[in-house]
Amino acid sequence: MIFQRTECEAQLGNIDVEWHALQAGVTPAPCIAVSGDHPAYILYTSGTTGAPKGVVRPTAGHLVALNWTMKNIYNVDPGDVFWAASDVGWVVGHSYICYAPLIHGNTTVVFEGKPVGTPDATTFWRVIAEHDVRSFFTAPTALRAIKREDSEGVSIKNFDMSRLRALYLAGERADPDTIEWAQKVMGVPVYDHWWQTETGYTIAGNPAGIEAMPVKIGSPTVAMPGYDVQILNEGGHEMQPGELGAIAVKLPLPPGTLPTLWNAPERYVKSYLTTFPGYYETGDAGMIDTDGYLYIMARTDDVINVAGHRLSTGGMEEVLAAHPDVAECAVIGVGDDLKGQLPMGFLCLNKGCTRPHADIVLDVIKLVREKIGPVAAFKLACVVDRLPKTRSGKILRGTMVSIADSKPFKAPATIDDPVILDEVRSALKAMGYAK
Ligand code: AMP
Repeated sequence: MIFQRTECEAQLGNIDVEWHALQAGVTPAPCIAVSGDHPAYILYTSGTTGAPKGVVRPTAGHLVALNWTMKNIYNVDPGDVFWAASDVGWVVGHSYICYAPLIHGNTTVVFEGKPVGTPDATTFWRVIAEHDVRSFFTAPTALRAIKREDSEGVSIKNFDMSRLRALYLAGERADPDTIEWAQKVMGVPVYDHWWQTETGYTIAGNPAGIEAMPVKIGSPTVAMPGYDVQILNEGGHEMQPGELGAIAVKLPLPPGTLPTLWNAPERYVKSYLTTFPGYYETGDAGMIDTDGYLYIMARTDDVINVAGHRLSTGGMEEVLAAHPDVAECAVIGVGDDLKGQLPMGFLCLNKGCTRPHADIVLDVIKLVREKIGPVAAFKLACVVDRLPKTRSGKILRGTMVSIADSKPFKAPATIDDPVILDEVRSALKAMGYAK
């Protein structure tokens, strides 16, 4: 169903219907009562690994949970303006452009555009200033795009940001470099929070509206009410603080989270409830420190094994991102005859950086050796212009690994720009991979 905008009309195909035409002459239907667990919607996960899964969202529990988060996590009162700069088609858009702000009595900003290029890297600042936004939610990738254009944060000074109270980040690992940049440039607390399409709202966050907990950069803070988050080893046993393992949520899950997958109840059990009996498997790897702070290090599939050492690619990305010329990066594990896997870094540089790429590659290799140690065996890195991502901004690390290892793969349906895969393939070929 297409809503035509006169500014830029879409060419309709055979399966498309125009919104106004569809409604012409139709009698509005009255509301009907449904049971609390009636599906509000079905949302397909971004599917960085395989075929998308249709997450079912139960209506009542979800509305109760979302309403709770607006004050207790996002710290807004009814009447305040809230802005989630997301695509309305993703889970953040469903939950935080649409349902949560509206049920809580907030004004919600509906924004179509990008952080850069529509028309420039000040769009976010302008919308925040013009609409009196109190709490702002976006993905780290959006901030990295702005930082790449304006690394000193000069342009924000032209906007009145005084009424903004906090920035919330989710959707991917918020690397310390991006958080520190945002804190400095925006001058507000930056709260990372971790959740999934499956849950529909925060699993771990900072309860800023109850009482903000100290921010530990690199951690989305603590498990929120309703979630008993545990770190498990391969045998399903709970691990000690500081140990890297699979992140699981002890059942039952709280209200509003997925009760099943649409038309695929067996796949629901297989995908989420089978690996660790009695737990929901999040698919993420991480650890909990002695203060109960959670750290999300990578998808479980992105933990690599280098000569018997389990290493998080997220930890290495953190080191690369801290290099002053690096705007964005990804680390993947490529197959190696000797060590099993070897880490390989992809670097996107800040605009205007003129240093030779080979020097920057040498710098980051040295940095990883210093910060993580020789055990990481980090010796492979290259500079690329762009990283392959889903349209929601998630880097397609799994697809990059398949290309590097010359394995067949199916690009996910949600890929933003498939051409970037060819660019990655060329970079890999230059390093002797992707044969
Ligand atoms: P999606 O269902 O598409 O929103 O993706 C959920 C996944 O994104 C999680 O399982 C994590 O791998 C990643 N993710 C979301 N938020 C965070 C965060 N704050 N820190 C680290 N990873 C995150």
